[in-house]
Amino acid sequence: MPSKGRTPSADAESRRAFIRKSLALAAATAAPNALLAPLSATAASGAAAGPSLPWYRRAFRWGQTNITEKDPTRYDIAWWRSYWKRTQVQGVIINAGGIVAYYPSKYPLHRRAEFLGDRDLYGELAKAAHDDGLAVLARMDSNRADAAFFRVHPDWFAVDASGRPYRAGEMYVSCVCSPYYEEYLPSILREIIERSHPEGITDNSWSGLGRGSICYCDNCARKFRDATGLDLPRLKDWNARAYRQWIKWSYARRLEIWDLNNRTTKAAGGPDCLWVGMNSGSVSGQSGSFRDFKEICRRAEIIMLDHQARSDAGGFQDNGNAGKLIHGLLGWDKPIPESMAMYQNGRPTFRLAAKPPAEARLWMLAGFAGGIQPWWHHVGAYHEDRRAYHTAEPVMRWHKANEPYLVNRRPIASVGVVWSQQNTDFFGRDNADELVDAPYRGIMQALIRARIPYVPVHIDHVERDAGALALLILPNVGAMSDAQCATVRRFVERGGGLIATGESSLYDEWGDPRADFALADLFGAHVPADRKGAAGAARRSAGESHTYFRLSPELRARVDGPKVGTEPPISGKRHPVLQGFDETDILPFGGTLAALRLDSGVIVPMTFIPSFPIYPPETAWMREPRTDVPALVLNEPAKGGRVAYLPADLDRRFGRDNLPDHGNLLANLVRWASGGNIPLTVEGAGLVDCHLYRQPGRFILHAVNLTSAGTWRAPVDELIAIGPLRVAVRLPEDVRGRSARLLVAQRKAAVRVRKGWAELELPSLLDHELLVIE
Ligand SMILES: [Zn+2]
Repeated sequence: MPSKGRTPSADAESRRAFIRKSLALAAATAAPNALLAPLSATAASGAAAGPSLPWYRRAFRWGQTNITEKDPTRYDIAWWRSYWKRTQVQGVIINAGGIVAYYPSKYPLHRRAEFLGDRDLYGELAKAAHDDGLAVLARMDSNRADAAFFRVHPDWFAVDASGRPYRAGEMYVSCVCSPYYEEYLPSILREIIERSHPEGITDNSWSGLGRGSICYCDNCARKFRDATGLDLPRLKDWNARAYRQWIKWSYARRLEIWDLNNRTTKAAGGPDCLWVGMNSGSVSGQSGSFRDFKEICRRAEIIMLDHQARSDAGGFQDNGNAGKLIHGLLGWDKPIPESMAMYQNGRPTFRLAAKPPAEARLWMLAGFAGGIQPWWHHVGAYHEDRRAYHTAEPVMRWHKANEPYLVNRRPIASVGVVWSQQNTDFFGRDNADELVDAPYRGIMQALIRARIPYVPVHIDHVERDAGALALLILPNVGAMSDAQCATVRRFVERGGGLIATGESSLYDEWGDPRADFALADLFGAHVPADRKGAAGAARRSAGESHTYFRLSPELRARVDGPKVGTEPPISGKRHPVLQGFDETDILPFGGTLAALRLDSGVIVPMTFIPSFPIYPPETAWMREPRTDVPALVLNEPAKGGRVAYLPADLDRRFGRDNLPDHGNLLANLVRWASGGNIPLTVEGAGLVDCHLYRQPGRFILHAVNLTSAGTWRAPVDELIAIGPLRVAVRLPEDVRGRSARLLVAQRKAAVRVRKGWAELELPSLLDHELLVIE
């Protein structure tokens, strides 16, 4: 391309230097006084090094106007520049190419946006952003093309078993194994980089065809055979070797694309010119797209997260969880900007209507609490609903003012909730929402409801993270390899507590059933020899959901199993995990159970009451009021920590049904199995998502108030203040806890230190508070 007297690389170099300077200046002005200066080792050295920090370590606040094909006729660049400034963004994502090009590409098949004409809208915007000192990520949306393209290169597109191309509306889906990804897209990336020198490239749909469809094109058939020696699977069959290998190979192929794109952008734009793709905040979403989150995070310097809004089931807290989960893979010193919809996204979606500000705001704040950075997202460059323009600014300003407390911090939690993408794939299979997501969500909600700080722990990081944790929770983690089971066993042997539910460890890493739980010795519970098939033990079937738990006096099982209900109670004293249920002998359940064989000495505080009719009321009496089917098994091995095994799918039920009894029982189990080792108590009414962090010399509590009429049914349109809340945090050794500041209320709080705990009061909590104890 013409270089106006300078080589593209020299031009790119000076551009990068300018960006570094601008961002360094922005970071410096973000900390107006010494108190606000970042204190962590990484941040402190970064502040000293200043411009040497690359864009992906400095640009925390982002903006994106997702350009429609109509916008070249009406894009008011001056207005958007002022909006960038008002919202304190340090980087922008600008549509460049892919499905349509927003610049005059030299590649004739790279179709220009319908109303683009000869305009270089992308280039104008990239220049404006660079002139304003912003980092630019050129946005691609790469996985489909129009009929004209398809006619020229039909062999670049994915086809089904009968050879028919996969379509997405009018478009054709390109194949990840074809020259489309290997030659065409790299040439587009090079063209964009040479024209405008963006800091990096994002891609909305880089991973191609999802898990639901198998491509049978010649490229796929050949590459699959070369890699595995097998023909492509003809059908989806999780038990077939070819299908399992196809799943693994499909993941590996996406990582090859990730690496190829990064090699391409770095070669064209220098070592900091990253290709950052796009990722989902949902593990199931990542699985459906063959995006191996652990491997991607191992490669990534920054995760651009497409996780725009909540579902009613997951709630705002899902965003805090997503931040912690991804930081657990990526590291806490790397940013995770997240696309946050300023339009009504969810059910229903209205691209051009403003999202209620309280809903948008709480989603942003919940993300901050989990270590996510803001990135406003508007679809289209012209809006008649101008209310959307007022939502982001105050939140982004607050983020800028308090940035040192929001990045480069380490979580403090004694509870680790174990997850595994392999489990989502090979145990969850086509029912991951029920088998994997709902149990995880139930545990997460129970912990948040009880104000117990936790971190998500990838199953392969159990060993790495174990030192900080008192308790691991396996929420129906069915598929576990022998090695993964061994790390959990070691954790317990060293004194760690364990809560496992449902079918945890009952399957190997491929989802093949074992004859018994691999962790049966820890559970003190086994699959009996006569149990027909290991699978499906805890499934709820239609008409069998009117079930209960019977709360037992403390009973110890005999070697041959419990005889609960057929003998008199040993004592009338109940186990501490049943605390708070003194006035009832039963609890509602709603799931089903299979029998277990128990080891000697385990405790069974609850048994199962089978289903009986609900209608008509005359029939609603227990046909079998007592069984010997354990609903909860507590084991205190001679060597090691406390273990609670829940054959009952209490976690899934709480995730689905939201019954307080289930949440309280789960919280009791956490307190018991962790030996009471929980570094935070918060007293006072309301649903509050509490995240604890530390930075050198200080301790941070980020509390998000989720108490609202719209908590479980989006959208929230009104914030409801709660308080006072009485807070007590166990202080780390290097924090003396003399003074505390409330960074939202902007005032100091009186702290009383007692036996290593700092106690203080939050008088009122509207949306969130960032409490800093130094
Ligand atoms: Zn293919």
